[in-house]
Amino acid sequence: MTAQLSRRFVLGGLGGSLLLTRTGPASAAGQTAFRAIRQFSLGDMTISIIDDGSFSMGLGMFASNMPRADIQALFRHYGLPTDKAVIPLQVMLVESDGERVLIDTGMGDTGYAGSGGEEGRLAGALASLGLGVRDIDKVIITHGHPDHVGGLSSGGQDIFTAARHFLPEVEFKFWTQDPAQAPSAMRTMIAHCRERILPVEQSIRSYGDGQELAPGITAVAAPGHTHGHFAVRLESRGESLLHLVDTSVHYLAGLEHPDWSVGADLDKPLAIKTRKRLLAEAAETQTLVAGYHFPFPGVGRVMRYGDGFRYVPMPLG
Ligand SMILES: [Zn+2]
Repeated sequence: MTAQLSRRFVLGGLGGSLLLTRTGPASAAGQTAFRAIRQFSLGDMTISIIDDGSFSMGLGMFASNMPRADIQALFRHYGLPTDKAVIPLQVMLVESDGERVLIDTGMGDTGYAGSGGEEGRLAGALASLGLGVRDIDKVIITHGHPDHVGGLSSGGQDIFTAARHFLPEVEFKFWTQDPAQAPSAMRTMIAHCRERILPVEQSIRSYGDGQELAPGITAVAAPGHTHGHFAVRLESRGESLLHLVDTSVHYLAGLEHPDWSVGADLDKPLAIKTRKRLLAEAAETQTLVAGYHFPFPGVGRVMRYGDGFRYVPMPLG
């Protein structure tokens, strides 16, 4: 029995879920500290939500097609700061039928102006679960943004060296294009993403809508945020979870006002259409959802609310 299996056995004895929190340096030498992991079961799957840190953004990001006063009014209504929003990041580790699958890789060691140096805690979190980077069998990248590919490589070196990587071809081509040929506003971001993605190029496989990437883990096309953005559906023994990823970046603005455009969405009309489609599906089927940027652990349900939706966090037992 491996260390990981014996740990899971202990967790099972506690009812299948456990909250771990650390604020100091992780014990494994050289690993970045992590803040929290939430682990729960979905059928036969074990899902670990890993808090990878956070960054902040001006509120205009969440309503680029609306007056600033409207988004400030929403945040004020919920008692949130009206100058900047904190955007958490959550990497998902799914253990399914003997495979360990990461969904996105967080910020890695990327420096980000608004992060306060808290990004990139994935390696420390894996170590706390008794896992090394070579224990990861597959890495599913939902899209090429820096907060999702930042942990793929470091200093030009592949991190998850034993893993097969999945990235849609349209995303690979866009985010590894020659930055000099890209629109000027995108050059810096593309240069960064290209630097993170190219070291794993040899192990990348493309994927498409409806493709099962690992047992019970299926890609769901969700274009708009980026041209090849994907959501992910998890299914095991009659239980399911729809990982919305960045279909809705903010848990309030994107849900209550799905027509509000996100500044970072590359195709804003298509992003709105996709957002409404997936949120409507989640509300009607009462499927468990996850959001990559929702408040930790970012798992709950979606219900209809006014002309939009509401995200309701779910106690996980
Ligand atoms: Zn993101």
